[in-house]
Amino acid sequence: MSRVYNFSAGPSMLPEEVLKTAAAEMLEYGESGQSVMEMSHRSKEYQAIIDAAEADLREIMNIPDNYEVLFLQGGASTQFAMVPLNLMTKNGKADYIITGQWANKAYKEAARYGAAREVASSKDKTFSYIPKTTAADFDPEADYVHICMNNTIYGTKYNTLPETGDVPLIADISSCILSEPIDVSKFGMLYAGAQKNVAPAGVTIVIIRKDLIGNAMDITPTMLKYDTHSENGSMFNTPPCYTIYIAGLTFKWIKKMGGLEAMKELNEKKAKILYDFLDNSKLFKGTVVPEDRSLMNVPFVTGNEELDAKFVAESKKAGFVNLKGHRSVGGMRASIYNAMPIEGVEKLVEFMKKFEEENA
Ligand SMILES: *Cc1c(COP(=O)(O)O)cnc(C)c1O
Repeated sequence: MSRVYNFSAGPSMLPEEVLKTAAAEMLEYGESGQSVMEMSHRSKEYQAIIDAAEADLREIMNIPDNYEVLFLQGGASTQFAMVPLNLMTKNGKADYIITGQWANKAYKEAARYGAAREVASSKDKTFSYIPKTTAADFDPEADYVHICMNNTIYGTKYNTLPETGDVPLIADISSCILSEPIDVSKFGMLYAGAQKNVAPAGVTIVIIRKDLIGNAMDITPTMLKYDTHSENGSMFNTPPCYTIYIAGLTFKWIKKMGGLEAMKELNEKKAKILYDFLDNSKLFKGTVVPEDRSLMNVPFVTGNEELDAKFVAESKKAGFVNLKGHRSVGGMRASIYNAMPIEGVEKLVEFMKKFEEENA
């Protein structure tokens, strides 16, 4: 067996330890005589799995008691609709900051249900920076302000949160969840699809302040109301049982690694190796302004499309896969989520150095 270094933006690498535990427990979980895949979600064994997953996530992220943790389906993309359907209901208005394709999709979906407003955008420079805002930019009557915390495609992230006053801030954290500590109490709601930093695709984590639940528009389908899920312990219908189990294993792995402070330190170290190289390279360069660089997604280019293609092809042969950049940026993108070991980044940079020498 030879496992590659997988730099995919998502689905992406999982910690080897998580995969090994899942493999060891595949045929029989504990003394249950069955796989978690086969288990009733109403069984005592499964209830213990989902309860532990929630408890561990609450512990790792230091989630205050006045927030619900929900395990939902439909990916982050379904939240683009659930957020306005449930929360754009007091004044029918919401403010959106457009920092890339995901933020824009969220905005477009919200515009179907009410007065969504684009407050700021970094589209003018291919989303290579986070637009600056001040408190005065936001409508105090907006029901919420929506941001995408880490922009997976463009490789930017918020280092300072926008000042929204009393208006709840909502963030898509799909590609940065668990990568570093986050002050949950600063947000009305956070959400993330699992397949970047947590588990295989299939579960969406929602962390929502309790007072924001229960005001959905009348037209909201039952399955898309947060109260449906909060009133039923994320088991109104069959939850994505196995994915939640894997998420639980990832949470345990993070606890063992030392929690989010330790993850942050490791992620900063990994990202620095790559950014330092890019800043000094004569061939490669990063596409994002230094102050807004993501710890998770690192886009870079040579400035020559043929050379980019050659690099992607040669790196793949050398065991570094999925480095091709998103079509809207071009070039390359290395996604270096929690599960990417530091050796993966070190070896990639060695390979880049060699490629640079050979193609100078
Ligand atoms: C991947 C991604 C999405 C889309 O997630 P799905 O689970 O596929 O719907 C949304 N937002 C961000 C920031 C992402 O990285």
